[in-house]
This record gives sequence, structure tokens and C-alpha cells, in this order.
Amino acid sequence: MEAYIFKTVIFVSLIIYGLIRMPFMKKCKLKQNIKSENLSYEKFKVFIAWLGMVLVPMIFVFSNVFVKFDMNLPVYIRILGVMGLIADAVFFYYIHKELSDNWSPVLEIKEEQKLIKTGVYKYIRHPMYTQCWLWVFFTGIAASNWFVLVFGLVTWGFLYFTRVFNEEKMMLGEFGAEYSDYMKQTGRIFPKIF
Ligand code: SAH
Repeated sequence: MEAYIFKTVIFVSLIIYGLIRMPFMKKCKLKQNIKSENLSYEKFKVFIAWLGMVLVPMIFVFSNVFVKFDMNLPVYIRILGVMGLIADAVFFYYIHKELSDNWSPVLEIKEEQKLIKTGVYKYIRHPMYTQCWLWVFFTGIAASNWFVLVFGLVTWGFLYFTRVFNEEKMMLGEFGAEYSDYMKQTGRIFPKIF
């Protein structure tokens, strides 16, 4: 019974994340891009991350193939994982609102793109990436499954480490001194401790 409840929660969380992203995906497609970086490689990396962040959790929900990787976590820890997922979904929505039509799933600069430096972007340059690290962590904890956790961390980590430095290079190329000043004032995925 308990296993089914957690599987249902993970399934619902994946649907909610998808629903949050959908209108922003539409908005993004409406805007012309004026510069993109390694588009096909970027799409391949997003696909790899999707395997660990969406497909494997879905396989976990609908089958028992990962049962031998059970972490046997106490229920209260798994509930903390679920609470983390809920908070993370709220954060996910908030970041999308903040970036609005400056957001894109791949590395590109859109027409009339502005550098967002307000809200959480005042403290962190990549809050969406902070949110993704939390997503894979909390999903693994709520699932209480080593495979879901480690595969999620590795596939997301692959996208993160092969992207974040290129993204900063692209933003520096586009916004120049404004972005280098912004980098001095912000942390990459955690706020800078002054
Ligand atoms: N790295 C950011 C955004 C991820 S989406 C985050 O983690 O929140 C990736 C796209 O966002 C890139 O194509 C880039 O053009 C855009 N982007 C990144 N930082 C931005 C910012 N501060 N303001 C506006 N657009 C930004």
C-alpha cells in the first residue's frame, strides 16, 4: 500500500512539472532565436537528462524492475522527499515566471532577450539548475531507490557540467560587461556568501 502511495505521488509530481513547463515551452517557440550554441548536441544532452529525470522515474512508477535497488528508507524520510518535491515544483513555477520568454530548453539567445537579474536571479545565476539538482535528489528519496537517485544525478549532472560553462560564455558574449558584473554579484547555483 505504502509503495503505491509513493509511486502515485511521483507520477503526479512528473505530470505537474510537465504542466508547469508547457505554457513556457509554447511562449519560447513564439520567439525567434538569434543565436544558438551546438543545437543538435544540446538536444541530445537534454534527451540524456530526460532519461534520468522523467523516463526512469516513470518506469519505477509502472514496474518493479528496480526493486533490488530499494534503499529501505523510513517512511518519514520519504515524506520529507515528497515535501521537497512539492516545494521544488513551486520553485520551478516561480523561476519560469521570473525568466518568462527569456527561457529556452537549449542554449540560445532570443530576439529582444533581456538579462534577468531580479528575484532569485539577484542571488543565483542558475536557479533552474539548482531546482533540477533538487528534483533528482527528492525524486530518488521519495522513491527510496538507489537506481532512480544515482541515474537521475548522473544524467542531470552530465547536462549540467557540459552546459553551465558554455552558457556563461554565451551570455558573456551577448551581454558583455553587464554579465561579468552580474557574475561578480551572484553565485552559480547557491547564493554567494559575502
Ligand atoms: N541557467 C538559467 C536558465 C536556464 S534556461 C537557470 O538555471 O535559471 C537556458 C536559457 O536561459 C539560455 O538559453 C539563456 O539564453 C537563458 N538565460 C540564462 N540566464 C539568463 C538570465 N539571467 N536572464 C535571461 N536569460 C537567461
